[in-house]
Amino acid sequence: KNFSGDFSGNPMQRATLKVLFSTINPAGFDHPKLIAFNEKLSEEIGLGKFNEQDLDFLVGNNLPENVQPYATAYAGHQFGNWAGQLGDGRAILAGEIMNNAGEKTEIQWKGAGATPYSRHADGRAVLRSSVREYLMSEAMFHLKVPTTRALSLCFTGEDIIRDMMYDGNPGYEQGAVIIRTAESFLRFGHFELISAQREYKMLQDLVDFTIQNYFPEITSSGTDRYKDFFKNVCTRTADLMTEWFRVGFVHGVMNTDNMSVLGLTIDYGPYSMMDEYDLNFTPNTTDLPGRRYAFGKQGQISQWNLWQLANALHPLIKDEKFLEDTLNSFGNYFWENHDKMLCRKFGFDQLQETDEEFFSNWQALMQELQLDHTLFFHQLEKLQDSTNLSSLFENVSYSILTSDAIVKLENFIKKYRERLSANQISQEDALELMKKNNPKFILRNYLLFECIEEIKEGKTKMLDKLTHALENPYEELYPEFSKRRPSGYDDISGCSML
Ligand code: AMP
Ligand code: MG
Ligand code: MG
Repeated sequence: KNFSGDFSGNPMQRATLKVLFSTINPAGFDHPKLIAFNEKLSEEIGLGKFNEQDLDFLVGNNLPENVQPYATAYAGHQFGNWAGQLGDGRAILAGEIMNNAGEKTEIQWKGAGATPYSRHADGRAVLRSSVREYLMSEAMFHLKVPTTRALSLCFTGEDIIRDMMYDGNPGYEQGAVIIRTAESFLRFGHFELISAQREYKMLQDLVDFTIQNYFPEITSSGTDRYKDFFKNVCTRTADLMTEWFRVGFVHGVMNTDNMSVLGLTIDYGPYSMMDEYDLNFTPNTTDLPGRRYAFGKQGQISQWNLWQLANALHPLIKDEKFLEDTLNSFGNYFWENHDKMLCRKFGFDQLQETDEEFFSNWQALMQELQLDHTLFFHQLEKLQDSTNLSSLFENVSYSILTSDAIVKLENFIKKYRERLSANQISQEDALELMKKNNPKFILRNYLLFECIEEIKEGKTKMLDKLTHALENPYEELYPEFSKRRPSGYDDISGCSML
């Protein structure tokens, strides 16, 4: 249902009752400049090659007549508290495009101007956060982690005022717009909003729409259909969390408005790839000292978020026992999934009972020796009978490996070799399994930082190189990118600045 009022220029928040979206046009920018365009994605979704005159569309100027942009209303729980109505505050949907195979993709500008849901904010995005989302969402896609994607990155030509990230002082930053794409941008928060407003017919319509369009695997009817929907969202969410753990991704703001109902990684803000393994790693500086969204908590937190979704869907499902049982079994499903994922990273063919202990010993070792998550598995693939462990792992730790540490490593590797010998598969197959599951390139925060600094100076060499590397994350195309974070970059966190 649409509610189209005149919101342009009105910075005040409005409660838009009984509606899911409002039509709104992008602000328009006089001097846009292209920074990057994702040709492959463009072809895939049916948009074709880039032409000079497309630049206008990429920032939301001079829209074709058949495009009626809109922003959606959603709600959410932020840092554990009900936040009431939120919505696309700086995202505007252009609509859907269909490719030759009949697949539909939603197209959305981010940073193209205020919407009825912007509250007191400006609806803009700075270059820094735009580059971060553009590159990281594509990096995740090529890592094979479910995610929204990025089509283009442009300067708007406008300077916008923001708190600066690294020195804490306010200042101007260049504005930018990205176009991002997804099968759907529907969030837990969309369902929470209309449920909280007791619009149960609309809730049912939205769930029916979601199942019909995005959950073809659901074939049941009646209440079972809604139950299966909830179960499916739980499974997709657990699978996504497992993938985040596999590659060492920390989202940073897992509020329910940032949770995709399709199980996609969505809303890249103060995220970070993890360098040294640390369950407490919390890149979002506004999440300190609580660390609600720390790396190691992402499984639990997604379960908490699913409780909120269960509450929202309760009017349709009405079966508390079912909802509770489903939520309680989430933990078992997630951990089993998680451990099977670790098996693949270590090259184990199947999960064994003793593996749980092996994995917790591994976690303790990683944490104590400050080992780099990605490099550890990279080096493990090179392990031979005669390998000298201190030279294999010397450039993997962020601290000096003492003789005591080497002994701990040796003990662990001994256990690892014993465990490998219980495999039913060949050594070659085990290695193949490892190579498929352990990335050789991850988009570390310091690389993003360097890339952003270069773009500010008008250069794109690093951007091009990173793009090439992130498109091939299971290969080592640039050895200089497959190294520890250099010293001097220890304080660069994801940063929550918008
Ligand atoms: P986030 O924490 O980035 O997911 O944002 C939370 C809410 O604030 C969402 O409803 C966003 O759309 C909104 N928001 C964030 N930044 C801006 C901005 N610069 N202008 C308008 N709304 C924003
Ligand atoms: Mg968000
Ligand atoms: Mg955001």
